[in-house]
Amino acid sequence: MEDWIALGYLLSAALFIFGLKKLGHPRTAPFGNQLGALGMLVAVVTTILQMGLGDGVEWVLIGAGLVIGSLIGLWMAIRVEMTGMPELVALFNGFGGAASALVALSEIWRFIEEPTNVPTNQLELTVIMVAAGLSALVGWMTLTGSILAMFKLKGGVSVFGKWIKTPTWGPVWLNPLKVLMVVGVAVLIYLSIDAPTDTNYLWGIIGISAILGIVLVLPIGGADMPVVVSLLNSLSGIAAAFTGFIIGNSVLIVAGSLVGASGLILTFIMCKAMNRTLPDVLFKSFGGSGEKESLTRTKVGSDPDEVAMMLDGAQKVIIVPGYGMAVSQCQHQVKEFADLIAEKYDTDVKYAIHPVAGRMPGHMNVLLAEANVPYEQLIEMDEINPEFPDCDVALVIGANDTTNPAARSGEGPLAGMPIIDADAARTVVIVKRSLSVGYAGVDNDLFYMDKTMMLFGDGKAMMTGLNNAIKES
Ligand code: NDP
Repeated sequence: MEDWIALGYLLSAALFIFGLKKLGHPRTAPFGNQLGALGMLVAVVTTILQMGLGDGVEWVLIGAGLVIGSLIGLWMAIRVEMTGMPELVALFNGFGGAASALVALSEIWRFIEEPTNVPTNQLELTVIMVAAGLSALVGWMTLTGSILAMFKLKGGVSVFGKWIKTPTWGPVWLNPLKVLMVVGVAVLIYLSIDAPTDTNYLWGIIGISAILGIVLVLPIGGADMPVVVSLLNSLSGIAAAFTGFIIGNSVLIVAGSLVGASGLILTFIMCKAMNRTLPDVLFKSFGGSGEKESLTRTKVGSDPDEVAMMLDGAQKVIIVPGYGMAVSQCQHQVKEFADLIAEKYDTDVKYAIHPVAGRMPGHMNVLLAEANVPYEQLIEMDEINPEFPDCDVALVIGANDTTNPAARSGEGPLAGMPIIDADAARTVVIVKRSLSVGYAGVDNDLFYMDKTMMLFGDGKAMMTGLNNAIKES
């Protein structure tokens, strides 16, 4: 039987690795997702079989946990709107961290309940206590940090009908405090090795780690949120890997390491996209105060007929999608627009994809893939930017921060972030409902340029109007 269990874990680890590989390309990503899910099913079934070999297993509790957990997961996945997906992902990161920390805690609890369970071998005890302490540090920090990140992505929380904005707050003195807290947890872990049954150390580690998660995420806002969300994702994997060591579960170590490593790679990709280093994001608080700039300027809007007329004869159009496309779910109308002008005016159409457009990594790719936009037309920022000076029309649909020239100045929440150079196109058309600011709360000079035409309105309504105007022209 034990050979079958080893084989089951090997199979699920292989499925995770192949799944991850397939996730590297939008075309193969859905299959990669299915492979990952299958790997998890194999891991769960194998673990249940392994538990069946032990004595005193509480099958009712395990069954109830599986059923309730699956139902809650199913309910959340069905209920969530596409625009709420990033918040759900942030929350799931936190749950992952907490689940790992709870498993580690249950191992230590065995020592507290029955001191004879404490390993007599000093090395074994040290490894377990250090791994459990690290799992608690990373796990609880990930839970509280992720919950705060979720509310930051949401923008706030409704309490008795009153909307309370999620604060962004980070005085400089918080930085030494963060370091002090990490050192404090390290000291508590060290002390707990000699007193594995002392609950005071345990609660101390959990308490400080939970506060650390909040202190770490609180100063981060604006354009740096993608970095923190992918970092939390990575941390949830690292917590799982630590827990894998404690309970001696190889698949947990493999899966945790895969999540940790891929999350870390994503974090560095996001950092590069934001032109930041990780220490900058964690300690410099680019997010600003979280206050949005007040707008004083005005701009007269255009209408779809006017834009359709201008498009007649455009040889090259670059579409710049952003979060507003996700909100209005107008990706199908955007695809129809691209097909229409390609057919009617023989226009060369491409899409400019900013790495942090939307609210989660790959957000635009997912939406455009859903509308069957050919992958070859989706061009990454660095590659598409040199093409804007030759572009007749840049159609910015619901993008704001990722096109904001203010990022080129060295100041404010967007400071230094590379942007899509839509302002270099001959004409810019922007579809959004108002002149209001984007996620980072910074006014956008692009709206007020002479060559910019604003199509004020919901993305779907405006794109439908524009498509109709093109058909009728
Ligand atoms: P922004 O969030 O900067 O702006 C989106 C714009 O969409 C808004 O200004 C809004 O203007 C418009 N909009 C909203 N609803 C609609 C609608 N129904 N129809 C048309 N327009 C609409 O978008 P970007 O994609 O340019 O930038 C993403 C931002 O999110 C960056 O700051 C990034 O750092 C941050 N972020 C990204 C994450 C990621 O992983 N990708 C994660 C967390 C944060 P109006 O109200 O006038 O319509």
